[in-house]
Amino acid sequence: MFFYRLLLFCFATLIATLWLGAEPTPATHEATHEERGAPGEPGITFNSVHVAGPYIAMTFDDGPSATLTPKLLDLLAAHHIKATFFVIGENVAEHPEIVARAAREGHEIGNHSWSHPNFGKMSDENVRRQLWRTDDAIKNATGKRPTLLRPPYGSITAREKRWIHDEFGYQIILWDVDPNDWKRPGPAVVRNRILQETRPGSIVLSHDIHPGTIEAMPSTLDALEAKGFKFVTVSELIRAATARPARSPAEAPGNVRAAVTPSPSPTSAPSGDQAQ
Ligand SMILES: [Zn+2]
Repeated sequence: MFFYRLLLFCFATLIATLWLGAEPTPATHEATHEERGAPGEPGITFNSVHVAGPYIAMTFDDGPSATLTPKLLDLLAAHHIKATFFVIGENVAEHPEIVARAAREGHEIGNHSWSHPNFGKMSDENVRRQLWRTDDAIKNATGKRPTLLRPPYGSITAREKRWIHDEFGYQIILWDVDPNDWKRPGPAVVRNRILQETRPGSIVLSHDIHPGTIEAMPSTLDALEAKGFKFVTVSELIRAATARPARSPAEAPGNVRAAVTPSPSPTSAPSGDQAQ
């Protein structure tokens, strides 16, 4: 009898282990799914992308900076890495030549508002003005209108997402890797946080207006390359997206859990932080 109970216990433990192993982060799974667009509005909002290969997107916000962005562009060119810059309209108007260079060298330029306000607390008319002015400034600098928006602080309501997408055609890009570089924790901390959190399909947030971030990048990019990651722009990452099993009703629940890309901080970061 004892032996029988022991056998039963072992079997139950095995099943529990397998089940837990298949779903390492149940809470973030839900958040990630929601952030990628509720049913009926797929493909509008992204904080990471489900991809088959080792592709990631480095994103740099709040620039261009007259001194730091050119340094970063030199480094990216030396590595043959394409990144995405979410620029502030005011800064674009001040340094259109830097944005033009970034675009010419194959980087993607996204809209990050005119003056970095909190969209979640603004009238539609003011949000619209922030977006159009920046859209025009990017068009003037690069000859192309952006197709991506990152709302300042990641702050945007579900209603705003819909009308902005309808009116501007923007995809709304958040992030899943946040080194909190705007708090200036030092280059080593920025690098280590990025290395620890980055997964295939990750969208990595940082800022090309902080010296420590730029200082962290040479060794960060070296280490990411050593891990086998391939760098693409955000739009390329989205185009590389594979079909997500979570959207297919035919998939078994176990397969859905295993296929979701874990996302360490998909929705919580924007609310408390003040520098995205
Ligand atoms: Zn920002």
